[in-house]
Amino acid sequence: MLTHRRILPLVALAMLLAAPARADAPFSFDRAFGRLPKNVIPLDYHIAVVPNAGALTLTGTESILLHVRSATPTIQFNSLNERLAEVTFDGKPVAKTESSDDTQLTTITLPAPASPGRHTLRFAYTGKIETGPLGLFAQPYAKPGGGQGLLLSTQFEATDARRMFPCWDEPAFRATYTLSVTVPAAWATVSNMPVTARKVDGDVATTTFARTPKMPSYLVEFSAGDLAEITAASGGTKFGVWAVRGQEQYGAYALANAQQILADYNDYFGYKFPLPKLDSIAVPGGFQGAMENWGAITYNDQALLVTPSTALRDRQDVYSIQAHEMAHQWNGDLVTMGWWDDLWLNESFATWRSAQETALRNPTWDWLEAQDADKETAMAADARITSHPIVVHITNELEAETAFDSEITYAKGAAFLRMLEAYLAPDTFRDGVRHYIKARAFSNATGADLWNALSAASGKDVAKIAGNWTTQPGFPVITETATCDAAGKRTISLSQRRFLMRGTDPSNERWSIPVDVKASTHAAPVPLLLETDGQTVAAGQCGDPLILNPNAIGFYRVNYDPATLAVNTKAFGTLDNGDRIAMLDDQWALVEANQIQLGTYLALASAMGDDLDGRAWEQISDALHTIEYDERGTPGHAAFTAYARSLLKPVADRLGWDAKPDDSPVIEELRRKVIADLGAWGDPGVIAEAHKRFTAFLADPASLPPDDQTIVLNIVAINADAATYAKLVDVAKGAKNETELRRYFGALANVRDPQLATETAKLALSPAIPPQAAPERLQLIGQLADYNPQLSWQTLSQNIKLLVAPFGPMEGPQIIAQYVAPGYWNAVPLDVLEAWVKAHTPPDLAPMVARGMESARFRAAVKTTLVPAADAYVAEHHGVSTR
Ligand SMILES: [Zn+2]
Repeated sequence: MLTHRRILPLVALAMLLAAPARADAPFSFDRAFGRLPKNVIPLDYHIAVVPNAGALTLTGTESILLHVRSATPTIQFNSLNERLAEVTFDGKPVAKTESSDDTQLTTITLPAPASPGRHTLRFAYTGKIETGPLGLFAQPYAKPGGGQGLLLSTQFEATDARRMFPCWDEPAFRATYTLSVTVPAAWATVSNMPVTARKVDGDVATTTFARTPKMPSYLVEFSAGDLAEITAASGGTKFGVWAVRGQEQYGAYALANAQQILADYNDYFGYKFPLPKLDSIAVPGGFQGAMENWGAITYNDQALLVTPSTALRDRQDVYSIQAHEMAHQWNGDLVTMGWWDDLWLNESFATWRSAQETALRNPTWDWLEAQDADKETAMAADARITSHPIVVHITNELEAETAFDSEITYAKGAAFLRMLEAYLAPDTFRDGVRHYIKARAFSNATGADLWNALSAASGKDVAKIAGNWTTQPGFPVITETATCDAAGKRTISLSQRRFLMRGTDPSNERWSIPVDVKASTHAAPVPLLLETDGQTVAAGQCGDPLILNPNAIGFYRVNYDPATLAVNTKAFGTLDNGDRIAMLDDQWALVEANQIQLGTYLALASAMGDDLDGRAWEQISDALHTIEYDERGTPGHAAFTAYARSLLKPVADRLGWDAKPDDSPVIEELRRKVIADLGAWGDPGVIAEAHKRFTAFLADPASLPPDDQTIVLNIVAINADAATYAKLVDVAKGAKNETELRRYFGALANVRDPQLATETAKLALSPAIPPQAAPERLQLIGQLADYNPQLSWQTLSQNIKLLVAPFGPMEGPQIIAQYVAPGYWNAVPLDVLEAWVKAHTPPDLAPMVARGMESARFRAAVKTTLVPAADAYVAEHHGVSTR
């Protein structure tokens, strides 16, 4: 599953109980954690469902072939909002059937204990169709040609298959499924497997799909509605991209990508995709991101379709999300984690694999360099004392949803795997992955299964190296101290401790750190496994730069001694891009953690000149935005923004406004980035040019390519008066599709004028936002917090139910727990904020609330040191009075 990360403007956060470090064992069905008894195992389901979309109800029948392992008087499985009837066991009525929606369990009492062996359980049932993205849900949408449409789709991960059909709804219970559905005959239907029979009866049709391979219940999929597809076939697999009728042609990009990615993965994993077909289904709204159902991946349509309104960033999202979901067809579907503790085996893997594949097939995107932004987000989350390990122990399956933590489970896990891959060497790592997939195919796994396969491939004790990265929270900072002999030969001594944004960790944890020692600007790195404090190693000549995290691959920070840092700073302009990025990341984090002076970092930023490295500038832009935000309302604000503009101006002058024919996508994005920043920081020339282009856009929308619309409209909105705002509203209301709607309404949320911001808040809550875009409301209100924090807070707190409803009953409270405190630390007193968040989240989410509050307190603390430090730096280095 890939959840959408574009929620609220500031830091995104994390969750759940920290697991005690524990020795992980290879997967065993009997040892796998779970609530359901292991003495009865479902082997083969036949499920027939008749949904009534109008009434939001369903009826069904189910026949399940069971393997009873030891004699038992009862059978227990999961159900929710379902009532069972006509329950028979081997054709005979059972003694008692009890279903509880509180425990989400059905218990069947047999007339006499079942003997070991095979038996058949049959029943009829009634159930519910949901209106949010869980179980079988009904999704209303505005049709492309006008009018309202409705489609049905499913979202089962983690524990919601039980909402559509009673089942053994835990990942270790793999079984085969034969699904048949009865829906209006005019509707198309899609599921994991191809259609084997379709029988029309008046205005309804019953469609039966082929039996699936053995798989967990959370991967079953079913969608139906007025859908149409485009198709292709290659390498023995049929590919389809489905969308609401009239949109299917926008799936062409995704259809081509799917064929390329599947061919690459067949090779990488060394195991051919085992299903006959792979469908990709564009769901209009309902859920954000995508879900890796085996053979039938569902996507929010914004994450799959490419229209003439789509910008480069959107196309990049489509490719990388496809690469993520398709990686799950192996890591997750073919081989599934034994229990939710090891969700990282699904999510870290898919995130890491997606980055590698996207980079491989899109070399002009500098994709691996761009992943540094995700790694930094993960490190910011993991630098909290309240952080949690990659492996979290889920003791209650109903909390499994909380394991989907985009910073730790996804981003940290992916960064860790990239570091491990580099340490073992990519070919060796791939060989280990192939062994692992082959050994665990059509079954389940734990982390130990992966370590064993990687150890066999590499000859190294991978569990020993990897264990502390997955079972401990946090990550280390390496302290480097150099000594020089008479001939100038350098020896470095390295030590480590946990890196925290504030405070110290009493547990004194240590990591096995794969460090690459790069002893001069372009020297070949020498690998070193740092395990002992004070470990020493020869490192070239003292006058040369020293890089201990080349290419920023390592998930650790480096604090260089002053002499080494001075050499590195002097040589900064000559370093490789990835090495400069590592230094910018680390120095900024050390500034925020109050461990070094701000000037040390700004000296690096100033040394960039008109260099065009995209990720380095993105890092600098983020840091400058943080300082600028903290400076607002202080006497030093004007001088600081002038300084920030002066850093970006050389790049803007070099790139201009219009793309040159040989500009790479990275250069195009950099151009837009510096223009957007200069506009936000009041550069008169940029603002005037944006207005000129906006006027031309109003006369002829085709004059402004989709890629440039965001920067131009945002800059215009920032400075808008009532008349200009009215024009922007007209543009927003004329959006032709959700891509444009997100972009144009997003611009309205940039207005700074408080009266106009109030208008935007009203619009965000109004029916101007169609049902499939309902999650955008929260995004827009959150965005208003940038310049109108009080208005944003009032609107959010008064409408919180409406704003989080589209995310469903599980994700909604998590969004509140994670994002509200870091988003509003500057708007509401922290104790008031904490009380509000606690009052609006269940007690189970207390760890998430604590993480959000730690970030909020951190931001408030950083502000008190950043502002005077920035004022002093600007006054000293730029001769501008801050008073
Ligand atoms: Zn995923």
